[in-house]
Amino acid sequence: MVGSNISFSHPVGASTTTGSALAKGMTGLLVAVSIIGLWAASLMILLHLNITELPGWLLPILLLWQMFLYTGLFATAHDAMHGSICPQNSRLNHFIGTVTVFCYATFLYRELLSNHRLHHRHPASEQDPDFTMVNISILHPGTFTL
Ligand SMILES: [Zn+2]
Repeated sequence: MVGSNISFSHPVGASTTTGSALAKGMTGLLVAVSIIGLWAASLMILLHLNITELPGWLLPILLLWQMFLYTGLFATAHDAMHGSICPQNSRLNHFIGTVTVFCYATFLYRELLSNHRLHHRHPASEQDPDFTMVNISILHPGTFTL
């Protein structure tokens, strides 16, 4: 869903909501709640494990598993920013985004949403907060000056 004419508002009870769209919206919500639940349960279990009793080979697997779930949190927050977690209920959609991005890295959803809108309105430009000359210099040393 990348483009310059992205709408981030999804009015509650929009007249375009069909049975199929409603089911699709519920699917997004179900997936989001599942990811949050899995992330929270896994984190609680891992924090209560005595890692000295675990075989060494298991630790990297558990670390990768939790990283996978953290990625799920960020992907869910990103989907919420695009209004696709719960398209029929904007407040619930943004609540899910607020929870997931806070759990991900204690980021503030409203601030991230504002910057993400700028990112999609002005991709790869000076107005894009995700794309700066500093980033370019790191990726291509010597190509650009600060
Ligand atoms: Zn996006």
